[in-house]
Amino acid sequence: MNEASTNSQTGPARKGLAFNEGLVFELGSAGRRACKVPACDVPETDLSDLLPASEIREPIDGFPELSELEVVRHFTRLSQWNFSIDSNFYPLGSCTMKYNPKINDQLAGRTSFSGSHPYLPEELAQGNLEILFELQEYLKEISGMSSVCLQPSAGAQGELAGMLMIHAYHQERNDQRSKILLPDSAHGTNPASATLCGYRSITLRSGPNGLIDLVKLEQLMDEDTAGIMLTNPNTLGMFEKDILAITEIVHKKGGLVYCDGANLNAVMGKTRFAEMGVDVMHFNLHKTFSTPHGGGGPGAGPVGVNKTLEPYLPLPMVEKTSRGFRLKKEGEKSVGRLKNFYGNFGILLRAYAYIRSLGKEGIPETAEMAVLNANYIKAKLRKEYHLPYPDASLHECIFNDKNQGGVSTMDIAKALIDYGFHPPTVYFPLIVKNALMIEPTETESKETLDEFISAMIEISQKGKQDTHRYHDSPERAFVSRPDETQAARNPILRWERTTDAG
Ligand SMILES: *Cc1c(COP(=O)(O)O)cnc(C)c1O
Repeated sequence: MNEASTNSQTGPARKGLAFNEGLVFELGSAGRRACKVPACDVPETDLSDLLPASEIREPIDGFPELSELEVVRHFTRLSQWNFSIDSNFYPLGSCTMKYNPKINDQLAGRTSFSGSHPYLPEELAQGNLEILFELQEYLKEISGMSSVCLQPSAGAQGELAGMLMIHAYHQERNDQRSKILLPDSAHGTNPASATLCGYRSITLRSGPNGLIDLVKLEQLMDEDTAGIMLTNPNTLGMFEKDILAITEIVHKKGGLVYCDGANLNAVMGKTRFAEMGVDVMHFNLHKTFSTPHGGGGPGAGPVGVNKTLEPYLPLPMVEKTSRGFRLKKEGEKSVGRLKNFYGNFGILLRAYAYIRSLGKEGIPETAEMAVLNANYIKAKLRKEYHLPYPDASLHECIFNDKNQGGVSTMDIAKALIDYGFHPPTVYFPLIVKNALMIEPTETESKETLDEFISAMIEISQKGKQDTHRYHDSPERAFVSRPDETQAARNPILRWERTTDAG
């Protein structure tokens, strides 16, 4: 171990004890149990006399048999290997890894919600439906869109819903088009969603300032283009200041504008997508509206549309009638159902609680603090790290390794782990060579930001003295530098019994 792992460094990571832990299959011993029940005092009946053979599971070879304490320790130890927003700063750019107030979890966990069966008749689920209806209304208010459907269960599924609606809109006009314009800074899910819907993605090269180039847009937008998919603020954290001109160019040629709302945290309560000329957009409730996320879900990606696209919204949606709340299930032009029941109800509840607790004042204040924190980091690090797009940015800042004297973005990301921080997003967006994308969010204190900044400066300075210093980082984590290509190409997903451990 080199000096990087001694107490002399900045950052909250300190020496400690980390327990080794095997696979659960390697633990325990035959016959060991969490609890033992008294011997049966009635005649025993064989399961096969009670159930058809198809309902009885074959014994599983090597099935682990553990005591209660072994189970508790196993999972507690594994949980200590995890890094989460509850452990420390998690500045993963574009992901908005804010702290999620526990009260939202508590609310979603109440048995009155978690125990209500999705097949409950509407008259017995009025409370649930009312909350969903109100959430639709809040999201309408925040975005300015005229209608919101809560059903999609991820940002990417919201994008697909949006593409399907744009497709249905052109179809109805007998004006089917084959292309979608996408800035080269777009998140990978954008072209994927457009492709899934049958569109050809046409790349719109960003201008030198990182924003959409109006001249190129004008050249590419034609009558075979269904619309544009843009992100505002974009994935460089910059506000598309020409958004009104952009939407006008697209509309003039009969196209529609999709806005990826994943970066809403930077602008909520400050500006509204509808007023920018956006026709359809999605929210990432699991980013902006406080749901623990990472590791693949669950999430919620509601879609908002203007009047023109309302008939195509996915169903069901919640409606308010004179006799209470009901699910609207039928719609001639609807793109149909995207998810069972009403979407990820637990996530929707968290967003509802979060919006209610922030209120009208708290929502714009949150955006302001997110922008302030990102700009604080940007100002403090710009002497030490190269800033490829130096113009004004909002909720995230993007550096790269250009001036690091041979220390790579990957080295810096891995070195941060030894300091106790989650690495920022790296090598995205693609238009920044070797990007290091930092999004602190509003929930971090100045002290935490300062610790992170000191660690970044120390890594830069030590790296400049010794280029190879971080090649083996991290040294304190359980796994140091896996071969990422091998791990992706030959993942080991199944445990194979290698010994005859009893
Ligand atoms: C996260 C993200 C998405 C995709 O959202 P998921 O919920 O992960 O599917 C799309 N666009 C941007 C800019 C994002 O940051």
